Order: sequence, then structure tokens, then C-alpha cells
Amino acid sequence: MKLFTSTLLAAVAVGALTFGSAAWADGKPTVGIAMPTKTSERWIDDGNNIVKQLQAKGYQTDLQYADDDIPTQRAQVENMVTKGDKVLVIAAIDGTTLTEALHEALHEAAAKGVKIISYDRLIRNSPDVDYYATFDNFKVGVLQAQSIESALGLKDGKGPFNIELFGGSPDDNNAFFFYNGAMSELQPYIDSGKLVVQSKQMGMDKVGTLRWDGSVAQSRMDNLLSAFYTGKHVDAVLSPYDGLSRGILSSLKSAGYGSGGVKLPIVTGQDCEVASVKSIIASEQYSSIYKDTRDLAKVTVGMVDAVLSGSKPEINDTKTYDNGKKVVPSYLLTPVLVSADNWQKILVDGGYYKLDQLK
Ligand code: BGC
Repeated sequence: MKLFTSTLLAAVAVGALTFGSAAWADGKPTVGIAMPTKTSERWIDDGNNIVKQLQAKGYQTDLQYADDDIPTQRAQVENMVTKGDKVLVIAAIDGTTLTEALHEALHEAAAKGVKIISYDRLIRNSPDVDYYATFDNFKVGVLQAQSIESALGLKDGKGPFNIELFGGSPDDNNAFFFYNGAMSELQPYIDSGKLVVQSKQMGMDKVGTLRWDGSVAQSRMDNLLSAFYTGKHVDAVLSPYDGLSRGILSSLKSAGYGSGGVKLPIVTGQDCEVASVKSIIASEQYSSIYKDTRDLAKVTVGMVDAVLSGSKPEINDTKTYDNGKKVVPSYLLTPVLVSADNWQKILVDGGYYKLDQLK
């Protein structure tokens, strides 16, 4: 009897671990969603969109934000695995350099049969990432550079113009795709002398911006202006993300750009954050990149559904995203360039924002 009771208890305990209440409440498993930070609007939208769409399909969700702190994100992921979440959707804070801690947590998860989806940012050097849902990140950079090319009239042979380059966080795989995409367009003009980088600061090791921090970009722009632009005008700034663009624009404005007849340079961006769309409407920031996070959530939820039902998710790229251990099967969505010419059509008519949010 004693033996029977303890066997029963053990069985219940195993059952609790495998089918933990959080994991299988209402019959559908829980999906853990690990997001990097709430300081940028896009990740808030991403989290909300995924939760909304998963819940509509009856899944339980466990959404966590890590304040851009790597140990916090690792603890959140470990906790999801302990609680019995069956799929993890992870937008890593640091997908590239410091992820050993995260790798262990992922390894443990994979050993338990948990499926891992890299969300928007690729987790590098882990064999345990099953799928990757993102945008065409190289194209993001190409579009940013093309907006500079057309605004300056480079195709028509105009120039030379001064340009400075900013990159994203060097621990985010995407930052390299954005930069390389942009440079694929800009480098020929730099080589021909139509674009001049007065600071000579080029390459992600020189122009990267750790944690995508706008204040870091702002002080780098301050330094560039005082060291290289006394008596010279900067005509374009490649910026990979709206949060950096706003820091760069503040720096430029404090140095006198945008007033007294001194034109602001062409400044790019990404994510179409509300403050930056307003800045585009006010003719300050020149462009941004629209990435519809509702579509990314849809692709991701499709992947979750497929892996949990034992079928293959829809993917459209099996070549581009080698994470150092494997080429991760991916689905790439298409980014769209937004400027003063089309913001209303893309963002308002497309239902992403309401017009009064942008006033
Ligand atoms: C995302 C961008 C975002 C950046 C900063 C990147 O990984 O792809 O959309 O601008 O992170 O949050």
C-alpha cells in the first residue's frame, strides 16, 4: 500500500511536471514569450500582438519583458521551461556574444521537447533554435540607403555630400544585416567620392550602438559634429532605428541644424515609432521603415500552431540565416520604406495607427 501510494505520488508529480497547470490549462499549452524591453514601442506591440493572436486560438500565454538585462532574460526563459511552457518565442536581448547562459537554458528546454522560435532577432550559436520569424533585414538597410540616395539625388550624379554612419547593437545579429544592406548601396558612392565620411568611421566595430541606446547615439553625434564638422555641413546620417534617429536629431538641433537656414541632414530610421512619424510629418526625420508587427505575430503564431500539431511551419528562406551552428529555417516578411510621401497611406490607411495618434 505504501509502495502504491508513493508510486502514485511520484506519478502525480511527474504529471504535474509534464502537464503543469500553466502548460495545459484549458487543454491548450502555454506559450512563453520573452521580449527584450519596453523602452521601444515595437516590442510592446510585438508582445501584445502575439498574445492576442495566440489567445484567440485558445493558447495560454506567458509574456515577459527583461528590461534589456541579459540575466533577467535568462531567468525568465528558465522559468518558462520549469513551468512547462511548450513553445518559447524569444526576441533575444543579446543574440550574438553573451548568450552562453541563454544557450544552456535553451538546451535544457530542447531536451524536454520544447520548441524554440527566434523572434525577429536570431539567436546565434545555438543548435536548439527550431525556426526564425523575421523581416528581410538586409532589405531594411537597402531601403534606408535608397532613401538617402534619392533624397540627395545621388543617382542623378549630384554630390559630393557628407554622410555619417550609425549601426545598431553589435550583439544583435540584425544590426549587421541592416548595416551590410545599407552599405551595399552606399559603398559605391563612397568609393566614387560622391559620399564622404568626414570622420572616416566605418564598419560595425566603429559605428555600432550598444543596446540600441539613443543617448549613446546622441553623444556620438555630438562628438562627430565637434570633431569633424566645424565649418562643414553633414548632409546625411544613416541611422538604423528611430530611437537612435531621435538622439541624432537632438544633437544636430543643439548644434544649430534645422534653424537659421542650416538644413537638417537626411536622417533615416526604422520601426515607425509614433514620435518619429511625427518627426517625419514635421520634416525633421526623413524616413523610417515600417515593419508590420501584426504580420510578424501572425507568422509566429502559425509556427507555434504547426510545431504543436506536429506539422511543418510555413517557411520561405532556408539559406540566409546561418546562426553558426545551423541554418535556421526562416520566414522573412517584407519591410516598407515610409517618408513624408506615403506615411498616411501606409500607416493610417493600413490601420496601423489612427490619424489622431500622429498629431
Ligand atoms: C529590430 C528592429 C529594432 C531594433 C531595436 C532589431 O533587432 O529588428 O526592428 O529597431 O532591434 O529595437
